[in-house]
Amino acid sequence: MECRYKVSNGTGLHRWLCPLLGLLLPLAAIASDAQAEHEDAEHAAHSHEHGAHVHGASQLNIALDGKRLSLQFLGALHNFVGFEHVPETAEERAALSAVQTDLVQGAGLVLPLGAGCVAVSNRITVPHLDVAPQQDLPANVQAEWQFDCASPEAISRVDFAAWFARFPLTEEIKVQWIRADTQGGSELTPDSSTLTLSP
Ligand SMILES: [Zn+2]
Repeated sequence: MECRYKVSNGTGLHRWLCPLLGLLLPLAAIASDAQAEHEDAEHAAHSHEHGAHVHGASQLNIALDGKRLSLQFLGALHNFVGFEHVPETAEERAALSAVQTDLVQGAGLVLPLGAGCVAVSNRITVPHLDVAPQQDLPANVQAEWQFDCASPEAISRVDFAAWFARFPLTEEIKVQWIRADTQGGSELTPDSSTLTLSP
């Protein structure tokens, strides 16, 4: 019988190794499928001993106070680069750096032109780059931006299509916003990416 497995031939070993592999390799395949399923489950709702985050989901708090517009963003690192482990390759390190550079520049944030917003400060934290995430804690990207807006009343709609385009693993952004006496919430998705802030 032809051996389906690559075993060095020509020795007596081959005769008994082949049936043995025929038994063991399918078992190994089953085990690795189970492992893959486990990783997929982790992918969706990823719990850690001291907290949990959901891949794809992000939170954004927006406050408009006079001319000052503040945004606070929190989301799983997975949403930005597709992994959360310590970078193992130059490509993975570059992906983390690119996220940091883009967030510092506010890539994906497109504020209404007529509002005349000028960036005044930001604080960006990308796990594995700025900080070593603690084991058992979810690896989250945190970003804060402050803008001064000459015409804050012009901020009534903000489209996050550019954000979903730049970080396509983001499936949902839960937004809470507050301005003067008004506040509201919204869940943005790639198909419904425009936030409306009542005046
Ligand atoms: Zn995670």
